[in-house]
Amino acid sequence: MNFENFILPHIWNLKPYSSARDEFKGKEGVFLDANENPVGSGVSENWNRYPDPLQLAIKEQLANIKSCSTDQIFLGNGSDEAIDLIMRMTCQSGVHNIILCPPTYGMYEVSASINHIEQRKVSLTQHYQLDVEGILQTVDQNSRLLFLCSPNNPTGNKLNRSDIYTLIESFKTGFVIIDEAYIDFSDEPSFILELAKYPHVIVMQTLSKAYGLASLRLGMAFAHPTIINLLNKIKPPYNIGGATQEIVYKALGNKSFKEGAVQLILSERSRLIESLHKIPEVVQIYPSDANFILVHFKRANQLFNFLIESKLITRNRSSVALCEDSIRITVGLSSENDKLVDLISKFYSA
Ligand SMILES: *Cc1c(COP(=O)(O)O)cnc(C)c1O
Repeated sequence: MNFENFILPHIWNLKPYSSARDEFKGKEGVFLDANENPVGSGVSENWNRYPDPLQLAIKEQLANIKSCSTDQIFLGNGSDEAIDLIMRMTCQSGVHNIILCPPTYGMYEVSASINHIEQRKVSLTQHYQLDVEGILQTVDQNSRLLFLCSPNNPTGNKLNRSDIYTLIESFKTGFVIIDEAYIDFSDEPSFILELAKYPHVIVMQTLSKAYGLASLRLGMAFAHPTIINLLNKIKPPYNIGGATQEIVYKALGNKSFKEGAVQLILSERSRLIESLHKIPEVVQIYPSDANFILVHFKRANQLFNFLIESKLITRNRSSVALCEDSIRITVGLSSENDKLVDLISKFYSA
């Protein structure tokens, strides 16, 4: 696989900014090279020094957890940064296009629109699976990115693995991006383990969901080291702040938290599904491999508004094609899920 063909020439040839911390990597000494404030920060902890631009300490932990090497990991200010950089690295406005499979995560479309990149949409099937034939017919020689989200947001289901393989094997004009934001809630193995076999695959994950660190903004992309190098070259030099790096480092050390949280969310998900099944106005609960469920309700819009009035906020997806009359519900704590079910029952019995 020759990556150069998928990368815009000005990015491939870019000479990146070289920061003070790029040019001197030692930790000992008197640092008068980065125009930092030598006094401190005016709060109890000092943040006056620039952070590691390549976040190596975190990457070493992640390499262990994800069974890959540090040079296969890119860290971004949320997955959103990785999505944007991948587009800017590969697509020229007016020339290249990307393939999206709605209903899916909205940021692919927004990021492509910001970058003024043509989007070709091939809807999922009625069962929220990939229309493999349709995708292959839509691809042309300028299709640089194919976005697959599994488990998918907002539908919750995982995509058939055999379809993903078929597309990886058939898509030869660019990168297949597999967004695994919800992989920790699923029993599917990650495609990170397949990167050596498929160098044109980029896997995205995040610490925002199972790891409970949404506020810190840490998104991950896993790919061939050549791709990771290119992303590092075009990212803002210090894209992950020092505070984020420090807290993430601690959080990744606490393995039992994430495992416990996932276990609790999965058992609450089953309990929530069971309770909702007893409500006759629930038309359908779609299968979920994520920490949320998409539910088709009778009078979904009115129910959604009623829940809001009761200070319980869900995500109304009713206006999204293929999600008519459906509400996306994040699995909460036991008491929160009980409150939700009570309110829904109250709404329909009124
Ligand atoms: C939540 C989510 C993300 C995570 O985004 P961050 O910017 O890392 O918080 C990525 N992809 C999908 C499909 C998501 O639902």
